[in-house]
Parts: sequence; structure tokens; C-alpha cells
Amino acid sequence: MNAAILVDSTNELSTRRIFAEQVRLLYAQAPLSALANALIAPLLVLVLWPVIAHSVLWAWLLTLEATLVICALLILAFRRDPHRHETPERWADRYTWACAACGICWGGCLFLLALSPSLVYQTFIALCLGGMLMGGVLTMTPWLTTCIFYSLPLVLPPTLWLLLQDDLMLTVMGITGILYLVLALSTAQHYHQTLQHSLRLGLDNLTLAESAAAAKELVEASHAQLAERQAALQDSLEAMREFYRVIATPRRHANDQIQALLAMGRERFGTAVGILAHIEGQRYEVIQTSGTGTGLAVGTVLPLEETYCNEAARLGSPLSIEHAATTRWREHLCYQKHHLETYLGAPVHIGGQPYGTLCFYDQKPRPTPFSSVDHELIQLMARWIGAVIEQDRTAAAVQRQHTLLVHASRLNTLGEMASGLAHEINQPITAIALYAETSLSRLRGGVVDPTEIAATLEKIASQSARTNTIIQHIRRFARQSKPHYLAVHTKALLDEIDDFLILETHRHEVRLQQHIPPNLPPVLADPLQFQQVILNLIHNAVDAMHTNEGPRTITLSARIDREMVEIGIEDTGPGVPPDIFSRLLHPFFTTKPDGLGLGLSISESIIEAHGGRLWATPNRERGVTFHFTLPIANHASLPEHPPTEPAPAAVGSNAG
Ligand code: ADP
Repeated sequence: MNAAILVDSTNELSTRRIFAEQVRLLYAQAPLSALANALIAPLLVLVLWPVIAHSVLWAWLLTLEATLVICALLILAFRRDPHRHETPERWADRYTWACAACGICWGGCLFLLALSPSLVYQTFIALCLGGMLMGGVLTMTPWLTTCIFYSLPLVLPPTLWLLLQDDLMLTVMGITGILYLVLALSTAQHYHQTLQHSLRLGLDNLTLAESAAAAKELVEASHAQLAERQAALQDSLEAMREFYRVIATPRRHANDQIQALLAMGRERFGTAVGILAHIEGQRYEVIQTSGTGTGLAVGTVLPLEETYCNEAARLGSPLSIEHAATTRWREHLCYQKHHLETYLGAPVHIGGQPYGTLCFYDQKPRPTPFSSVDHELIQLMARWIGAVIEQDRTAAAVQRQHTLLVHASRLNTLGEMASGLAHEINQPITAIALYAETSLSRLRGGVVDPTEIAATLEKIASQSARTNTIIQHIRRFARQSKPHYLAVHTKALLDEIDDFLILETHRHEVRLQQHIPPNLPPVLADPLQFQQVILNLIHNAVDAMHTNEGPRTITLSARIDREMVEIGIEDTGPGVPPDIFSRLLHPFFTTKPDGLGLGLSISESIIEAHGGRLWATPNRERGVTFHFTLPIANHASLPEHPPTEPAPAAVGSNAG
């Protein structure tokens, strides 16, 4: 329906345009017709001057010339009218009436015919009329109505008069006049159709050219739009690539990552300074900064209202300023105090809670506005920083929990060894008491042999030293401390817990043998945690063998495996049933009635924190072997937390 209406209105429009063009052509040819009139009429009058009354000739000529003047004025008016194309009907009607008047004037020749004295004059008049008919009609072909209005009054009166005369010649002339009229009108009709056809063709061509030009314009506009979008896309791709490059580069600390991002942002946004700030109430504190010159130092505290960040945080989305001095921002406290012309900032949230802002600024104005890609990028950066800080906090909390857990597990091991330890301490104390009593009774009995007393005192001193050593070992082992990674010798660490190892193995008559190569390189480890893992594995092996009928042996061995030292603890116990092998290291997995099931999983987490691995393999004959690896000190990556206090077994300098 709509399409039909559209087609109709398009047709109507093109018909009007063709009609306007016809009228234009009508007026364009009109001067030719007027000129012919102006020349032929006086010529006719001149020829008839001797034979017809002058008054008649003057009346006819002046009437015709008057119509010609009207025609000429009409042509001028048409040419001057700027809106002539909008009212073609009116102009066509006016000209048709003018031509009709002209035709009537020529039709008035009927009187001249009647007054002519001879056939020669009458023939001349008829000739002039024929010429005026043909010539006039030809100039009026653009509009058929004009042709008809001109030709009928011109031809019919004289022709009818000629036909009514009782003279064969005049009758033939009349018939010829009728034929001329028919010929002229059909020729006009033919030309009119041809003209209309060519005008339609021309218009179609024009419309085609116009729509081609419009289509070209459209294509060019969409090309430009496409190019613009492509450039924006390219820009955003570049930004993403840069962003990805920065965040994908592995860095040890969150601070380093944020620092790298600030530097990237400064370069990308072309600002002198990049800042990560924490906002608390009305307090704005600089947490991290990149750039020099106008940059604020880390730790600087400002009133929040003195910063554009206040507005960015309030807005909850990116805020950009390119030239503060030329906008309302010049009224802002930040501009008045710090003269910051350029600013791009976005709020940072941690766990959904506002934390502060990420911003980039400069005291120089920025020549081009920040793009939507810049806004998206800073928002992405702010989100990423929020996530990094959150992750860092979580990691620190997990680390704290892990340290506590490891310590609790160590205390648990000590607790399990408590009765044995008490016995171990009790033995030298009993010996000391015995030696003291013996010496005292000898002194009381008056038997004083200084050499014997000295020997007994030496024994007392040695036993108390032994007690002291055990107590020191217990104290050191029970101590809570953060891991300190040092280059340590496996053998020395094992020697340090010799007391505990003997204590553990003796309780179930287990033989402990050690195969540690003398040239084993030092490993990078926290001494306490290393010993904790060894004790834990030995404790489990002893537990597993306590019902053994056969030999009870634990073999502690070590070997180099590429850049690691592999420690093995092999027992001759019952081993582990295949169906629970894969669950051994799971937290809370235990087969003991009073077990916690945490020893192995904590040992595994300790070893993994060292960059090593813990696993178990069934022995060929009986029992199971637990293995773990530790990095050789020379090849190891640097530890996360540098040690504050060297352990006795440490060799060389602090590895961190
Ligand atoms: P817990 O000693 O409290 O049970 P662990 O994590 O130290 O917790 O040990 C988990 C389980 O692994 C033990 O209960 C035991 O069944 C098994 N296991 C550990 N060491 C050995 C071993 N040397 N031989 C046989 N089974 C073992």
C-alpha cells in the first residue's frame, strides 16, 4: 500500500517536472514565433497597401502588434519569474491565451481576403496564413493546447470563407487550408509526443544520475563512517594489546604490576602522572604513583575535595577533562590549587566496595579529547587493579593461615612425641640426681677424692647439657615463625633433629638408616619446615610398622635429580592399599583412630611452597616410600621472604 502511494507520488512528481520543462521550451521558442509575426504582418500590409483601405490594414496590423507586445511582455515576465518552475500551468495558460489572441488576429485575415481585388492577393494572403500556421504551430509543439488554441482561430474563419465562395480556385484553397490545419496539428502532435518521450528519457537519466550521485554520497559517507569505526576498533585493539602485554608479564608483587600499569597508562593517555589513590571519608591518600615533575609522592594525603578524583568517585564512572581552564572545571578547588588541566580518572572497587581511584593527569592541556576507548580502557584498568589488590589481600590471608596451620601441625607432632620427649628429658635428669646424690654421700662420709668428684661433676654437666640441648630443640621446633628460605645442607638438618629421630624410631624398635651422599649440594629451604616434613614422614612410617612382625627399617636417602635434591623415606611397613593410594595426600584422610589426616597434606603444601613436589610409591617388596624434592640452592629462584635470622644449619650467605 505504502509502496503504491510512493510510486504514484514519484510518477506525479516526474510528470510535473516534464510539464515544467515543456513550458520552459514553449517560452524558449516563443520569441521565434513573435519575430515571424512581427516580420510577416507588416510585409502583408505592405503588399495589400495599394488595394485595401488603409484604415482596415492599420486596424488589423495594430491589433496584431498589440497581441505581439503582450506576448513579448509575457516572455519577459516568464524569464524573470524565479518561481516559474513551480507554477508551469499558470504560465502555459497565459501563453495559450496570448497565442489564441494572435491566432484570432490572423484569422481576421478573412476580411483582407474578402477585400482583396484579385486571386493573386488572395493567394498571397493564403500563403502568409499557411506560413504563419506551420511556423507558429511548430514553435508551440511543447504544449498541444497552445497549438490548437492558436491554429483553429487562425485557420477556420478564412478557410470557411474560402469554401463558401462560388469559385473553384478559392474552394480548393479552402480545402488546402483544412489539409494544412490537419497536417500542422498531426505534425505538432507527433513532435509533441517525441518531445515528451525524450523529456521523460532525459528526466529518467537525470533521476538516475541524481540517485547515482546520492548513492555515491551515501557510499562515501558510510565509507568514512566505516573508516572511523575501523580506526576506533584498531585503537581499542592496540589499547587491549598493550593492556594485555602489561598484565600478562609475570611480576612477583601486585605493586610491581600496578606500577607497570600506571606507566603504560601515562604513555597511552599522554599524561605526566599516574596515581592510584585510596579514599577514606574525606581523606585522599596516594598509594602508588608513576611519573615525575608534578606528581605527588607516595603517602601524600590531601583533602578529597581538592581532587578531581572526588568527582570521579562520586560519578562512579570515568571522568575526563582535556582543558580545565576553558570549562567549568576552572572553578574547581583542584584546578585552583593544583592547576591540573588534563585529567582522566576512574573509581576503583575492591570486592564491590569503593576503594579509591586510578587517575592520570597533567598540568598541560590535552590537544585532543579522550576517546570512548580511553574511557573503556581506564575503567578496565581500574577493575583489574581492584581485582589485583583483592587477590593480593586474599593471598596474604591464605599465607597467614598456612603459616598458622603449619605451626599447629608442628605442635601436633611435638604433642605426639610428648611422652617420649618427657622420657628423654627425664633420663639425664635422673642421672644428674643420681650423680649428685652419690657425690653428696661421699662428701658426707668424708671420702673426698677430688679427681672422682670432678669426674662426677663433669658427668652432671654433660647430662645437663644434653637436657638443655633437647629443651632447646623442642623450643626451636615449637617456635612460630614465618618461613625463612636459606641454603641448607640436608645432612646438617637431619643431625639437628637426631634426638627426635632416635626418639621416634626407638619407641617401636625401628632401625633408622641414612644414605646421604657426602657431596650433596645445599638445598633452598626453611630449616624448620624441612625438619617438620622429615619428622612427619618418619612418624607415619613408624606408626605404620608398629604391628610389623618382620624387620622394621626406615631408610632415609637423598640423590640429585637435575636441579633438585630428592629425599626418600622408605619403610618396611604394610604399605598402602591401592584403592586409597590416590587419597593419601588429601586433607583429613586418615586410617588412624586418633589421626587428623593433615600431616601429609600439610607436608605437601610445605614442599610445594618450596617449589618442590611430594609423592609416594609402593616398594617392590613391602612398605611404601615417600619422596619429596627441594630445589638446589644455586639454581633456585629467590625466596619470597628474606630471612631475618640464620638457622644453625645454614651454609654460606642468606639465599634471599
Ligand atoms: P594422620 O597421620 O593423622 O593419619 P597423615 O596425613 O599423616 O595423617 O596420614 C594420612 C594417612 O596416610 C594415614 O592415616 C595412613 O593411613 C597413611 N600413611 C601415611 N604414611 C604411611 C606409611 N608410611 N605407610 C602406610 N600408610 C601411611
